[in-house]
Order: sequence, then C-alpha cells, then structure tokens
Amino acid sequence: MIGGSWRDSSDGATIAVEDPSSGATITHVADATVADGRAALDAAVAAQAGWAATAPRDRGEILRSAFEAITARAEEFAMLMTLEMGKTLAESRGEVTYGAEFFRWFSEEAVRISGRWSTAPNGATRLLTMKKPVGPTLMITPWNFPLAMGTRKIGPAIAAGCTMVVKPASQTPLTMLALAQLLADCGLPDGVLNVVTTSRTGEVMEPIIRDPRLRKLTFTGSTAVGRSLVEQSAQQLLRVSMELGGNAPFIVFEDADLDRAVEGAMLAKMRNIGEACTAANRFYVHEDVVDEFAGKLATRMGALTLGKGTKKGVDVGPLIDGKARDGVAELVEHARAQGATIVTGGKAVPGRGYFYEPTVITGVAKDARMMTEEIFGPVAPIASFRTEAEAIELANDTEYGLASYVFTTDLGRMIRVAEGLQYGMIGINQGIISNPAAPFGGVKASGFGREGGFEGIEEYLETTYVGIAP
Ligand code: NAP
Repeated sequence: MIGGSWRDSSDGATIAVEDPSSGATITHVADATVADGRAALDAAVAAQAGWAATAPRDRGEILRSAFEAITARAEEFAMLMTLEMGKTLAESRGEVTYGAEFFRWFSEEAVRISGRWSTAPNGATRLLTMKKPVGPTLMITPWNFPLAMGTRKIGPAIAAGCTMVVKPASQTPLTMLALAQLLADCGLPDGVLNVVTTSRTGEVMEPIIRDPRLRKLTFTGSTAVGRSLVEQSAQQLLRVSMELGGNAPFIVFEDADLDRAVEGAMLAKMRNIGEACTAANRFYVHEDVVDEFAGKLATRMGALTLGKGTKKGVDVGPLIDGKARDGVAELVEHARAQGATIVTGGKAVPGRGYFYEPTVITGVAKDARMMTEEIFGPVAPIASFRTEAEAIELANDTEYGLASYVFTTDLGRMIRVAEGLQYGMIGINQGIISNPAAPFGGVKASGFGREGGFEGIEEYLETTYVGIAP
C-alpha cells in the first residue's frame, strides 16, 4: 500500500505466504522492488508536513477508532495471524488484545505531548522547549508477533505526527496488510502509512535507510540484522530504535511459591511457542527446590497438545519454518551430547508442519549452546545455583539484556536482585512482562529505545529549545 492505494510490485513478482502447520501456500503478496520502496518513501515524505499539522485530537481519534475496529474484528485478525504464523487461536486473540491496546494507549498520549517553560538561572532569558515529530520513519518488524510488533511502532508514530514506511516480515505480511486497510478505513490520510512487502529485503531497505529524507529507523528483530542496520543508519545519523534478541534468565529462589513459579514458567516459556524475545531461555533454580520444580514443570509441559493452531484442544502450534525447528533440535542435541538429561520431549515431530515437542532438560552445562543463544522454541533448560550472588552472576553472563524473571517472596531479595540484574525489564513473580503502559526494551546487545509507556512516544519526537529574551 503506497500513498493510499494497493498496487502490485513494479516487476510483477510475488511472495508465497505459507501455513507453518502444513507447509501449504495460503496466498501470494507483492514482492516489492527497489523502485517500489522508493515510491513508498516518496509517499511518506509527501504526507509528512500535512500530517504533522493535523490536530493532536484528530490523530488520537484515528487511533481510538482503529483500536475499536480491531477489537470488533478480533476473530478475523486472530485467524489471519494463526494461519500465517502458526500459534493457536487463543494465543492470537491474546495478541490482538495486546496489539490493539497500543492504539488505545497512544490515542490518549497524542493529546498530552508537551514542552516546558522556565526562567534561565541568571534571570536573563526564558527557556521554552517544544516537541515536534521526528519525521518519516522506516519500521521493520519480525514474524513472531505480526500485529503487536507493528502497532507498538505505528501507534506512537501516528500520535506524534510522523509518517511511515512499514516492512513486515516476509513470512507474515497478511496481518499488517489487513491493519493498513483498517487504518485507512478509520480515516488515516493517504501516505501516512505505507506498507512494503518484499523478499529482496536488504536490497530494498538499504536505499531507504541511506535516503537523506528518512529521519528515523525503528527495527524489531535479531541482533545480527540490528547491528547491520545501525551501521547503515550511521551515514545519515538517523534516530534509531532497536528491539533485538534476548536470552532471558528465569530465577527461582528457595523461598518462592513453587506452584506460582511453575505457572509463571509456563507463560514465560510457552507463550508464542517459545518464539518470543522475552521467552524464558535459561532456568536457574535453587538447588534445594530444583528437582521439585523440574518435575512439576515437566508434568505440565508433557501434557500439552501439539497441532494446527485453528484446531480445538490444541495448546501448542508449529514453529515458523523447518529451519527454526531444525535449529531447536540442534540445540537440544548439543545439550544432550554434553550429558544433560531430557525429562520430557526432546524430539521434532515427524510429518507435515514444523512441530517440536515441549521439552524440559536438566543438568544443562553453563556453556551449552542453549544457555548462550536464543532457543526460540518450546525448550526449557534447567540449571541449579546455591547463592543469590551466583544467581545474579549467571543471569548477567550474556551479551543480551532484554527480559528477566525472578520468583521470590522476600522483599529485600526482590530489590537486591532487581538492582543487580542488567536487564531492561524484570518480572517479579510473573511470567509475562509486556504491557502497553510500560516501557518495553533492552540493554546491551538487546538494543536501545523503548516502546509503550510514556517513553514510547518520545522515540518519535524531537525537542526544539527556544530562548526568548523578554
Ligand atoms: P530477523 O531475521 O532479524 O528479521 C526481522 C525483520 O528484519 C524482518 O522483517 C526481516 O525481513 C528484516 N530483515 C532481515 N534482513 C534484513 C536486512 N538485511 N535489511 C533490512 N531488514 C532485514 O528476525 P526474525 O527472525 O524475524 O525475528 C526474531 C528475532 O526478533 C529474535 O531475535 C527476537 O528476539 C527478536 N525480537 C525482538 C523483540 C524485541 O522487542 N526486542 C520482539 C520480537 C522479536 P524478511 O522477513 O524479509 O527477512
């Protein structure tokens, strides 16, 4: 969608969209060329001045209508997402609620953009600061949350008065295309949001990133791609936000409510089939309770039913593709070869679709690949620790710093551990941390910038300072 109209790729090429539960092709979408990418940026640039001048209330009302329209059509969006991404309908419905909420939150923020007024310390001048939209923004999103990773960027950009070019992941373009039409139906002016689907990703994105008319790049995806995009963006000194990979530790202390910890573990590990940047990647459990925790978690994980996400009674859908499934299998084999014990699961499911059994592994070595790399699948490796200091040290021993989880009933310990963890987000006694009203984001190799909360809109605003001599 460029400048408010749907078009084919300029060379007629298409991308096949696949159902990961069967490998069958669902449909085809346009495979944009470099010229199409440029046309999308042209449209965003042309719309920028008019959009920035639109009243904040009008921008907010469009977001509010879109929130209501998505909510009214929740089943349709959930079905689309399940078909292209694989997770169960129940999980997709959860993402629709979560994703739509960013529009409601930022509809409320659009009218609260403000600067400040003060007197200089020497009394000679007055200091005024005003906020302005950053300008045309390129948004690149991943396949794991096809709606929410878009609304988390589009919501604040619309609220702030920025226009945009959105590039959804090639494997899950359908949800974003449906969202673009919905926003147009809710009154978003032509050219404010342009969507480009392409499999020639680097080739089409790089000229946009290097175009001096682009003002901001926001990316959610892997750390490897994020690094290369930061390099490309350096030429234009773009404003950049990076939501990258994670390697979340999940720490259970001996004083924790163990049933609550297992409940939290199921959410932190199994939400989105483990294909979440916030997914618990490494479980560190105090040596006094590790056997009991592993036993309870394995019972819960082993009882889950795998299958196509649209089927009733299914708890866990397929992984996104064969490469993802084989990658998970390799990590499990590596841990097994080092002497770890598979308590439940541990195998890919033969046949159509990219299924991997929910798996619990104990006695996993510190240097096992699954402790240092993102697993992105339904596998829970468990190791034990003895002291609080050791738990913090193990948790921080990674280049990543996105989400982390701590289970304890000791208030002093909550504070000490939260202060010691080098993570952008810390969940205490809860297995889900994402919330549209909170600042989502990481430190270290998990990136920079925040999405959601009061901080989210700041990423799309510039500060201008005006000094006034009275
Ligand atoms: P990815 O391979 O990095 O892809 C993400 C997006 O970047 C896709 O739209 C992809 O397009 C695009 N892309 C790939 N190569 C590119 C290039 N050279 N230039 C410009 N764009 C390029 O990541 P993924 O496998 O889709 O997503 C999983 C990763 O995302 C995990 O590491 C996960 O932790 C991270 N993630 C982070 C957050 C967060 O908020 N921190 C949230 C969700 C996911 P194509 O699809 O066309 O290749």
